[in-house]
Amino acid sequence: MLTVNAIAATSATDPLVRTTVERRDLGPRDILIEISYAGICHSDIHTVRGEWGEVPYPLTVGHEIVGHVREVGNAVTRHALGDRVGVGCMVNSCRDCDNCKAGYEQYCLQGNVGTYASADRDGTVTQGGYSTHIVVDEDFVLRVPESIPHHAAAPLLCAGITTYSPLAHWKAGPGKRVAVVGMGGLGHMGVKIAVAMGAEVTVLSQTLGKKDDGLAFGAAHYYATSDPATFETLRNTFDLIINTVSVPVDMKAYLSLLRLDGTLVSVGAPPEPLPVEVFTLFNNRRSFAGSSIGGIAETQEMLDFCAENGIAPEVEVIGADAVNKAYERVLKSDVRYRFVIDVDSLR
Ligand SMILES: [Zn+2]
Ligand SMILES: [Zn+2]
Repeated sequence: MLTVNAIAATSATDPLVRTTVERRDLGPRDILIEISYAGICHSDIHTVRGEWGEVPYPLTVGHEIVGHVREVGNAVTRHALGDRVGVGCMVNSCRDCDNCKAGYEQYCLQGNVGTYASADRDGTVTQGGYSTHIVVDEDFVLRVPESIPHHAAAPLLCAGITTYSPLAHWKAGPGKRVAVVGMGGLGHMGVKIAVAMGAEVTVLSQTLGKKDDGLAFGAAHYYATSDPATFETLRNTFDLIINTVSVPVDMKAYLSLLRLDGTLVSVGAPPEPLPVEVFTLFNNRRSFAGSSIGGIAETQEMLDFCAENGIAPEVEVIGADAVNKAYERVLKSDVRYRFVIDVDSLR
């Protein structure tokens, strides 16, 4: 076992504190990663505050991880010492169910093993990336292309793949009109990726406060959802809407923005059920769907796509002791656009 420095939550209400976590001895197919940066995802905050169910405290969160391979098990073939690698939201799955066999490990019928707060195969609770090192099976470790700036790469592992997967699945591309709802960590990546895929992209944000950024990321249009005229102007417009916000929205208003065969995909999760009026779906044969991260092969495809297209998250790098303050700012949407912890500050 390796004892490594980390930051952990000890309860739903106390601030995160410096501590240590244990990493397992390397199995034949395991990789020891020295972590450089870990992104702060809104899910981390929901989790440590107990908003998504019971929490096995103390818990180290973090599922946007980049670093370098420092040790490999004797049967590892996919990664080598010194490689720049990443780990996202899951670290294992059954590998045997229909979904796993089809490359959709995130939809594993046995439940995938989350990077934190999940039961690992050895019975321990997984601990995430706000930590100096992590041990992960090589099949769940991604190659991070060198052209992606090191300090900015981590958020691709959750925010990047969460938006890339539905954009790819619903075929965002030339001739398609795509709207991205919300201009936070997920939303700003959704805009950049959809633009790189060739779609005509519209941002729907509460205010016009981030309009200059949205247009700089390549969006063609930017509307405020606080203005009721937006929903009149854009009725029957979009082939695809990616909703990244995790507060309930007026479903009828948003679904009405879809043109024929359009789909509204939610990737943000409000805790309450959303009422959907079925008549709104009848019109234009509309669909309402959800999407969760991406499979391992698709995550690699996303990283390679971002490298090829020169796109990366916009980040604010912080030290370990600034994490509690950063959480408060995330909750106020006061970050452009993702906090990333410089893990050197934990060594
Ligand atoms: Zn996340
Ligand atoms: Zn499975």
